[in-house]
Amino acid sequence: MKQFESFQLDPAILKGIREMGFEEPSPIQAECIPAVLRGEDVIGQAQTGTGKTAAFGIPLLDHVDTSRRKVQSVVLAPTRELAIQVSEELRKIGRPKRVITLPIYGGQSIGRQIKTLKQGVHVVIGTPGRMLDHLRRGTLKLDDVEIMVLDEADEMLDMGFIDDIEAVMKFLPESRQLLLFSATMPQGIRQLAQKYMRKPRYITVSRGEVTAPVIEQVFYKVLESAKLESLCRILDSEEVGQGILFCRTKKGVDELAEALMARGYLAGGLHGDMAQQQRDRVMNAFRRGDVELLVATDVAARGIDIGSISHVINYDIPQDSESYVHRIGRTGRAGRTGIALTLVTPREMKQLRSIELEIGDHLTARELPSLEEVAE
Ligand code: ADP
Ligand code: MG
Repeated sequence: MKQFESFQLDPAILKGIREMGFEEPSPIQAECIPAVLRGEDVIGQAQTGTGKTAAFGIPLLDHVDTSRRKVQSVVLAPTRELAIQVSEELRKIGRPKRVITLPIYGGQSIGRQIKTLKQGVHVVIGTPGRMLDHLRRGTLKLDDVEIMVLDEADEMLDMGFIDDIEAVMKFLPESRQLLLFSATMPQGIRQLAQKYMRKPRYITVSRGEVTAPVIEQVFYKVLESAKLESLCRILDSEEVGQGILFCRTKKGVDELAEALMARGYLAGGLHGDMAQQQRDRVMNAFRRGDVELLVATDVAARGIDIGSISHVINYDIPQDSESYVHRIGRTGRAGRTGIALTLVTPREMKQLRSIELEIGDHLTARELPSLEEVAE
């Protein structure tokens, strides 16, 4: 097994890795770190929870020259929450080296971002729209960028960011190194790689090698009219430490979060119509553990990595298998066991079967706990 020491990293970066508590590289890190250090373009394909952030983050931070107060690396991510999360992880690993990272995303005061950018930062992590906004205003310069990362590239394409991504690419120097990470490799990603990458090294971690997902997958048959009561019974009988509950719509999120709070659960809602400040507040409370149940839409929860999530609950069954895989990837991170529970109404059974077929896995049917069991 390769060790972090074998990569000849800056000692300050090694220190940052230790402070994160990482003992040895995950499989994608073991392959990706040396390739990026050699200057290669890399396509990394791996499921969620395999450590992709550090796979690009470590060599990217190692590469930064802190004596130059210029943006040397840029990361594009699909959502604000993910941009913040990636920025946090890079900030922590890069702290002993004093690398300055900045997340830039819509919804936050652009004035504040401009001020920080003026002072000089080494790495920016942002959503494509806001990044482009800064580039067009001239408040962000990418002329000195040496490494560009597209994180969760498939998600970004799904969300319709392709034009923004390509527009951002135009601001980069010719000689930059490009890294692309994605859980899946649809046609659009291949085209993007063909257009912008030079002899990319393709690194894939297959299911079996994945360090993470040990996820117990269960479904409950519930009546539409008794969904909330069924959920409460499940919550009361399961040892839910922290959980993410998924709803189909923003309205559904608001209603479920309200209903849970009214019943005394520590719940909070998260969706795209909320003000950024409010979203940050909920996420921080969830990180601290003051909120135990985060009720969210698919989009709001994309890429969120919180180590302690014990349960993912599909209050509304996901639309397709891709959404299912992304949702349940929020638990069982980095080797921990997670539990994914899906509520299915009788008329959604067909949808469940087609998800099972596509993921090549069966969900275990479980009976709703009886009232007596809940009372115990
Ligand atoms: P991905 O982007 O592949 O979904 P992340 O980069 O978010 O995965 O990593 C998932 C979790 O695993 C994070 O909490 C991260 O801090 C942790 N992690 C990453 N690399 C290691 C490692 N080498 N050892 C232990 N934990 C790790
Ligand atoms: Mg990731």
